[in-house]
Amino acid sequence: MTPIALSYSQCMTAVAILFVNTLPVIITDSLISSTGNITNNLHTPLTENEARIGIDGYRPAGIARKVWSISENVLFLYSGRVDHAERVFEKIGRDLSYGKIYDDSYHNMIAEMVAQDRLELSFIILSKEPDDEIGYYYHGNVYKASADTYGDVIAIGSGAEELVGCLHQRPSGALPDPSVSLRRFTEQVVVNSVHAAATLTIEYRNHASRLAAASTGAFFEVIFPTIFCPPEYKTIVDNFYGKGFAHVFMELDDTQTRIVKFVYARPEVNENLVITTREGTYASISNDGGINLSRPNLITLIIKEKRNDSEISEFDESIKSFNASHLIVYCRRLYRTCGHYYGTYSVYSSLNGSILNARSFDDVMRIKILKDDIFSRIESRFSEYKTCPICLS
Ligand SMILES: [Zn+2]
Repeated sequence: MTPIALSYSQCMTAVAILFVNTLPVIITDSLISSTGNITNNLHTPLTENEARIGIDGYRPAGIARKVWSISENVLFLYSGRVDHAERVFEKIGRDLSYGKIYDDSYHNMIAEMVAQDRLELSFIILSKEPDDEIGYYYHGNVYKASADTYGDVIAIGSGAEELVGCLHQRPSGALPDPSVSLRRFTEQVVVNSVHAAATLTIEYRNHASRLAAASTGAFFEVIFPTIFCPPEYKTIVDNFYGKGFAHVFMELDDTQTRIVKFVYARPEVNENLVITTREGTYASISNDGGINLSRPNLITLIIKEKRNDSEISEFDESIKSFNASHLIVYCRRLYRTCGHYYGTYSVYSSLNGSILNARSFDDVMRIKILKDDIFSRIESRFSEYKTCPICLS
């Protein structure tokens, strides 16, 4: 008997909402997998030649967003078969355009349809209710947890459990009481969300990643859907969000420090612009704490809602500058004699506007870190490990 060829694309996904019921923050992966005949390895923002096989033989097939906007007030987050998700998404979109309101009874009707048609789909609806409250509706395999520094969490997808596991393993800063200081609470929510994305990024960059094994990864988006926030949160989030995130991976040994990967992401309403360095290219840190990236070593990726619309190309020459409000620095120390890596990472983020500024000069993208000497501080911390902590040689 010939096995049935499964070639449809699955979004096997890790999609989560953190801080449910206070200030929802969406974190999603962006990997689409397929059992079809995939000839080329996938280039993702975090890895090149991505060929790690996930569950049930699914292989990386593309990148796409897992959050689709149904209307200004309703977001659709999904995991499962992309064609099934499209069917439900379009149905809801049509009904809402005819004046339907997404409420409990409408949700039950949609959930019944999904069950009856045996759609392979889990989804979450985030909606702004008429009274300005946030409405959460979900269906399918939903994983719920409470994680100290990430509030209440709801997650869907094959990587949901791994995602929540990562959050438990690496908690972030303690959350202040919002009734004491809303500002401090909101700022900590943003910092912790950046930390969560960093944690997942580290996990995925690891060769034996459990997230990759669960068919999720490629890139982790952090989205603050401020339209769902009470106005007092919105102002605070808007003040230091919107310029983008930068991830800098550095490695140091006894003689040098180098940047092995730089990833910049600027999420917008319907797409996420990502600029990344090619694997195997290095940049060094200049005396004034900046980085020079060679433009031919840069790649532009645009993550769209649909896999076929997403793009990967040479560096877009029209990009003359960009800046980031958040900087995440990852560091590991290499021991030359034994070849071991001692790796952990630092999450460094700023709350007051732009922390990084990049400008184009001829063949170089000049990155200026505007906030103190972050690299030298990390360098000196890691230089303390003179003896390899792994083999103690
Ligand atoms: Zn060693």
